[in-house]
Amino acid sequence: MAGPVPQTDRVPVGVDPTRASIARVYDAFLNGKDNYEIDREVLRGVQRAAPEAQELATENRGFLIRVCRFIATQTGVHQYLDCGSGLPTAENVHQAVQRVDPDSRVVYVDNDPVVLAHGRALLEENENTHFVSADIFKPKEILENEIVRKHIDFTEPLAFFQLGTLHHYEGPNEEPAQIMREYIDALPSGSYVAISHFLDPENEHSSIARKMEDVFRHSPMGSGTFRTKAEIEALFDGLEMIDPGVTLCADWWQDGPRLKPLNQVQYCIAGGVGRKP
Ligand code: SAM
Repeated sequence: MAGPVPQTDRVPVGVDPTRASIARVYDAFLNGKDNYEIDREVLRGVQRAAPEAQELATENRGFLIRVCRFIATQTGVHQYLDCGSGLPTAENVHQAVQRVDPDSRVVYVDNDPVVLAHGRALLEENENTHFVSADIFKPKEILENEIVRKHIDFTEPLAFFQLGTLHHYEGPNEEPAQIMREYIDALPSGSYVAISHFLDPENEHSSIARKMEDVFRHSPMGSGTFRTKAEIEALFDGLEMIDPGVTLCADWWQDGPRLKPLNQVQYCIAGGVGRKP
């Protein structure tokens, strides 16, 4: 029997529900509601390769929240430029940092129309949070963007985030490092850069990483490159790494003792934080 159309299946203007999007697939991985069948199909495909696939997203999000707390409590930085915000989820950057430091300013950047349609209102919930619709792989455009310039003071240290984004860049392998170099060059001394990225752990879990990569890249979403630790470290060129450097997201200052062994997917996502000298 046909019932009311579920909220998730109402399609905002300008959104193509027959093509998967990175933001919606990520939302599906996090058990969110802003995704369509085509996005869930990508999730199921990756789960066939690795049943614990959703851990890619949960580990990434756990890392994001711990990084936010670290920066808000330890560094004296009060402004955040978050590239590739994603759809609003349970705890977003501004909520994590403004809980510690209510005056901290957050500018989110994303280019997904569903993030715009559903997310903007939720992410811009106070006068210190702002949203920019732009392409994060074009540093010049982001750095010269009017809203970014209005709310981020480039004469003061800032926190710059590329969390779960650079592995979706589809182009020559060396280009994400060039993109990061342009951003890092523009940051004032004392700024912090956080990156998380799909990892090929180059050990017994390498084959599962490459299987997931194959599914992502050949899925209706079409992107998801797993890089080695050395390749991810190259994205932080010119920065002093905060202890413990680039490591598994699961190992980056976890909240408490670990009682369970990591599963194979938890070995396939890494992150780190660097400081510009
Ligand atoms: N940063 C969030 C996190 O770590 O939880 C969300 C990560 S989500 C996997 C990646 C986000 O980057 C998506 O919302 C997607 O729309 C956005 N994105 C991907 N390519 C982009 C581009 N070229 N310009 C702007 N945003 C982009």
